Amino acid sequence: MRFNRLIVIYIISIILVFVMGQESDSILFLVGLITALFITITIIGVSVLKYNLFIKSVCNLSGNNNEIAITFDDGPCPDRTPQILDLLARYDAKATFFCIGNKIAENKAVLSRMHNEGHSIGNHSYEHSNSFPIWSTKKMQVSIIATDKELNKIGIQESNLFRPPFGVSNNLIAKAIKTCGKQCIGWSIRTKDTVKSPEQVLRTVKRKLKPGSIILLHDTNKHVCDELEQILLYCKKQKLKPIAL
Ligand SMILES: [Zn+2]
Repeated sequence: MRFNRLIVIYIISIILVFVMGQESDSILFLVGLITALFITITIIGVSVLKYNLFIKSVCNLSGNNNEIAITFDDGPCPDRTPQILDLLARYDAKATFFCIGNKIAENKAVLSRMHNEGHSIGNHSYEHSNSFPIWSTKKMQVSIIATDKELNKIGIQESNLFRPPFGVSNNLIAKAIKTCGKQCIGWSIRTKDTVKSPEQVLRTVKRKLKPGSIILLHDTNKHVCDELEQILLYCKKQKLKPIAL
């Protein structure tokens, strides 16, 4: 894990500052500088999965073909997710849905349709709690397993795909993901679709989309269907094929 290496580098740097016998003011300055750098790298590593500081995450598709992946978080939603499925069917596209466990039972029909139409279903924790990143590993494991069980209850075999709530990672989350036998899935295009306008979302996608991209959208975004249709049209024009992870 890169974070362990980062800690070793930090400790060695601090020791070197003292060994080199600077004046006390310089020592204080250098220790402060190194500590600030360590904290900055850690914060960036916690919030950006693609840097793989705590766990190796898939943020792009491998291979050289013209495939991309569209992913939807925080669903299913009883009204919007069926419309998303309609659009995907119309454009012959597949997608991946990172579902929240406690929404599964009440949306059984939507989940079954997702599964039957060849889309992938990933695990996005049972509660999507704001405090998930600071839970114990054990509590995270319970949440991940509970989501798999909800899928099993409606006759769907769980996948190994897991996306941490908020796309945040740390040592505890990394351990929970590994012990649950999951693969951490990130993205290469964060559209910020829950806060940006459809025009801004589309502009971001057009600027960044290339073979292998993984796009992040949300079932909970009220503009998601309009945005999805524009993205699917753009993919068609660019001869990019949306596939399920
Ligand atoms: Zn989420």
